[in-house]
Amino acid sequence: MNSSSPRLVIVGGGFTGATVAVQAARRSPIALEIVVIEPNAELGRGLPYRGGDPDHRVNGPIATHSIDPLDTSHVQRWLERTKLLVEDPDAQCSFGTFLRRSDYGRYLHESVLEFANKNESGSTIRHRRSRVSQIHLTSNQVVLKLQTGESLLADSVVLAFGNPASRVPPILQDLTEYPCVVSSPLAGDELQRLCAQISPASQVAVMGTSLTAADVISTLLRQSAGARITAFSRRGLIPHRQRPPDAQAQANLPQTWLVDRINGPVPSYLYPGPGSAWTVRHLCRAMRGRIQNHTRQGMPWQKAFDEARDVVWQFWPLLSQTEKQRFIRRLRVWYDVARFRLPPQTAESLDKAVTAGRLSFCAQSLVEAKALNNGRLKLTFRSKGHDIVKEFDALINCTGFDLGGEVDPQTLAGTMVQSGLLARDESGIGFRVDENCRVVGFSGQSSPRIRLAGPATAGVFGDSLGAMFIAVQAHRMLPSLFDDLT
Ligand SMILES: Cc1cc2nc3c(=O)[nH]c(=O)nc-3n(C[C@H](O)[C@H](O)[C@H](O)COP(=O)(O)OP(=O)(O)OC[C@H]3O[C@@H](n4cnc5c(N)ncnc54)[C@H](O)[C@@H]3O)c2cc1C
Repeated sequence: MNSSSPRLVIVGGGFTGATVAVQAARRSPIALEIVVIEPNAELGRGLPYRGGDPDHRVNGPIATHSIDPLDTSHVQRWLERTKLLVEDPDAQCSFGTFLRRSDYGRYLHESVLEFANKNESGSTIRHRRSRVSQIHLTSNQVVLKLQTGESLLADSVVLAFGNPASRVPPILQDLTEYPCVVSSPLAGDELQRLCAQISPASQVAVMGTSLTAADVISTLLRQSAGARITAFSRRGLIPHRQRPPDAQAQANLPQTWLVDRINGPVPSYLYPGPGSAWTVRHLCRAMRGRIQNHTRQGMPWQKAFDEARDVVWQFWPLLSQTEKQRFIRRLRVWYDVARFRLPPQTAESLDKAVTAGRLSFCAQSLVEAKALNNGRLKLTFRSKGHDIVKEFDALINCTGFDLGGEVDPQTLAGTMVQSGLLARDESGIGFRVDENCRVVGFSGQSSPRIRLAGPATAGVFGDSLGAMFIAVQAHRMLPSLFDDLT
């Protein structure tokens, strides 16, 4: 790299920032000065991979979690080098390796360091510990204002700021300061403090039954021996568990198999009939037929589901706004339980707790939550038209991110929305970008120098949430970014 190398600034150093940095350094046709701005001490960890809970595991096999989607055995090579599996033999199950999320965070951090000064393009990757508060464009550069008041100039910017904050349901708004209510279990140490207070006789309510709830329940099961846990959600749907991959299909795959799969063609059975529009109804019908077909032939339903999931980014943009919103309102919860699967270790621990009578799942809506003078909570649930009132010692909110809420004006996204550089996408769960991830502002114009990648583009691409989809999204985005820089 020399002093005139173009500067690529990546805002946010979670998985998205890390994979963009590493892929840019490895694939750029010219040397770049890559700066990742991230307040946390280590790059790659982001929100999911910085906690230390030994029961929180990555929910997919490691080959799908490489930092570089063109080098899918990279994680395996790191595992062999570090001998990590000696310390964590439970990571391996009969059909794959499911790392602790904290160890995966270490993998990501060390992988960025591996390529920081030694990579195919002669680029450098530097970590600047700060937070970006504002961004504006000049005629040929981007100006980033840091929390410290300093400014930094960039030739190109990739925003990788992840998800919005957790959603606190209105019914819990007045209880967030109450000591036995955890409103954001993923942030800070609220959950650890609660675990320290819980006794074996405690009754704990978990609001939500998705992957976050599964993580929280594993923590509770280990740290609060004996406490009884009731997890509830409107439909009571629990994520499916991971399945063994198709061994035949996995044999002798090239390093590029992940990119080939996700960027491959949309299967013909998903197309609507000639002259017909893409609709949620025809997609459901096509997938149901495919799943039945697979099941008849003795194949797992997940295989058919995964074929469609892998290429969602290609057909989601073909649905009308009404169809997208219909999917989000009616079907997303069903899609999510099939899509976001439990690691086998977590599934086993939950099964054991259900059998032992320590854990139950119910389909109930919370309609009232009251703090009692004795420090407990009185919760009123509604199920099939009946109200059920129960007392609990603690309540943990696991309802997920506030995807469709107001954009917080205190965040970088909020300041960019105010200045017109960012705009909500038509599904209302992220921000508008063009096919090359360039942000599309309020005026409808795309910004040539600012791109957005990762979960905040899910409204445009349907499913840019998991590591493998983000890594392949970065792979697709980078050629246009290199074109802009050269
Ligand atoms: C609990 C949990 C578990 C998950 N488990 C898996 C899994 O097992 N497998 C999988 O594939 N996916 C998993 N996911 C999905 C996950 O979203 C992606 O894998 C990936 O971590 C998203 O990375 P990200 O960098 O976009 O977001 P994040 O990890 O949220 O990182 C965003 C980063 O941006 C930084 N940032 C934000 N604003 C600014 C700013 N203004 N200036 C500078 N920095 C900023 C933050 O500090 C943060 O470090 C999980 C998600 C969650 C929440």
